This record gives sequence, C-alpha cells and structure tokens, in this order.
Amino acid sequence: MKPLAIVIVGASGRMGQSLIKSTLTDAGAFRLHAALDRPDSACIGQNAGYRLGLSSHVTISADLPAALQGADILIDFTRPEATVRHLAACREQGVNMIIGTTGLNHEDLAAIAAAADDIGIVHASNFSVGVNLTFKLIDMASRVLYSGFDVEIIEAHHRHKVDAPSGTALRMGEVAAQALGRDLTACATHGREGHTGPRPATTIGFSSIRGGDIVGDHTVLFAGDGERIEITHKASDRAIYAHGALRAAQWLSKKQGLFSMQDVLELN
Ligand code: NAD
Repeated sequence: MKPLAIVIVGASGRMGQSLIKSTLTDAGAFRLHAALDRPDSACIGQNAGYRLGLSSHVTISADLPAALQGADILIDFTRPEATVRHLAACREQGVNMIIGTTGLNHEDLAAIAAAADDIGIVHASNFSVGVNLTFKLIDMASRVLYSGFDVEIIEAHHRHKVDAPSGTALRMGEVAAQALGRDLTACATHGREGHTGPRPATTIGFSSIRGGDIVGDHTVLFAGDGERIEITHKASDRAIYAHGALRAAQWLSKKQGLFSMQDVLELN
C-alpha cells in the first residue's frame, strides 16, 4: 500500500517533534508530506528532521494551503485557535484530520462535528492505546463491581503540570460513573482533609500527586471488603501519543465522519 502523506502542524512542539520522529522512522507506512508551524516560530526554514538528527526532504513552513495539496491527513497537536483554523482549511481541501489538541471549547467541538460531514476526523483527548484500553477495563470492572466497592482514582504527574486532576483521570471518572449510572459532577470528591466524616458509598474520589518528571500514572481502585482491584496505566514516554495518533491515521485512511480512539481500537 502507498505510504500515507502526512502533514504535521506544531512541528517544533513536544508532540510535533515526537510525531515527526515516528513518521520519519516508519517510512513504509507514512511519508512526511509537510511540517508546519506559526510564521514567527524559530523553526521555519529548518529541515524537519534537523533537531531529531534524522534525514528528511521536508522544510518546516507556515504555508498551510500549499502543505495540504496532495496530502492524505493532517495531524494536529497544537492550540485550540490553531486547530480551528487547520480544521476549516482541511474541510475546504478535503484532507482528513487527527486532532489531539486539548482545551477545545463547545464551539470548537461543534465545528469539528460539522466538518466531519465532509471529511474524516479522529478526535481524542488521549491517543495512548494503553490508556484507551484502560478506559474499557474500567467500564467492565465498574459494571461487575457496582455494589460494595468504593471507587478512587489516583493520578501522578511531573512538577510542571498546572491542572489537577488530569483530563485523563477525569475521563476515567466519567467512564466509571457512566457504567455505574452516576453523575460524576454530583458524586466526585477531590482530595480530602480534616474531619471528612465517613465515605459516602456513591462517591468517586480523586487524588493527585505532583513531582519530578513523572510522565503520567493513573490508577482506578475498586476497594471492597476483603479484596480490592487496581487498574493502573503508567506512561513513561510521550511517544505513546504519537504512536496512537499514527495508528489512528492508518485506521482512518479515506473514511468520513467523526471517530474516537475507542472506534480506532474497536472497543465500542
Ligand atoms: P507544545 O507547546 O510543546 O507545542 C505546541 C505547538 O503548537 C508548537 O509547535 C507551537 O508553535 C504550535 N502552535 C501554538 N499556537 C499556534 C498557532 N496559533 N498556530 C500554529 N501553531 C501554533 O505543546 P505539546 O506538549 O506538543 O501539546 C500540544 C497539544 O497537544 C496540547 O493541547 C496538549 O494538551 C495536547 N496533547 C494531547 C495529547 C493526546 O493524546 N490527545 C497528548 C499530549 C499532548
């Protein structure tokens, strides 16, 4: 099969670099078609493989319309305002998209859903294959352990992370709450201190640890009388997100519509 012609935006970013590396090192399946960044980025004019010590024929540019010509798919891990702009251009030129940017608002999400009338899009707040399998395991465990088990979610991240709990921990809470027939906003408890009283049975608790260079650990604990089950995912390299995004790109290929990583992994 012909390699997929991939456009990577946010080329100088942490995810952009990881995506360029994964694309260039799997030349059988993927071809780096173009790499883009903001016009004021220091990487404009650089060879896309330069910082990674890899060889590439692509020069990083800010010319989106030119980059989309002849492209199969654009992979976007940038910022919401950039993603919305890329989305409009991809829709216009019929290029499919993988969207990993977080912090999208309701309007942005509506624009993604509307664009999926014309193009294929995989949108996920976490592209890790392992995390998405973990969501499925949490769903299964919650359905079996619906009574007599307390659900607690513990997450740990590096010292630079500015929000808590992590978006992935919240998603894990939503998956458990949905399977248990609860509303997460009503049953979530964040951290505990002082005289908290006994634990209400329907609570889903969240605890966050911050320190060092922890890439991302998540545990969902089902604590019962006489036994407990822990479902844990530990990330040690952000390449997992790039690998997941490229797996999604291959799966999406020429499809049209809006899909999630659960669709890509056939976990729905
Ligand atoms: P980063 O800050 O390292 O990189 C962001 C990139 O986007 C940079 O290259 C920057 O120049 C570019 N950019 C920013 N504003 C732009 C604009 N207006 N126009 C064009 N380009 C612009 O960030 P990162 O760690 O690579 O993360 C990027 C995004 O991906 C974030 O939203 C992050 O939360 C998300 N993310 C998602 C997943 C997932 O699995 N879905 C995993 C990791 C990160």
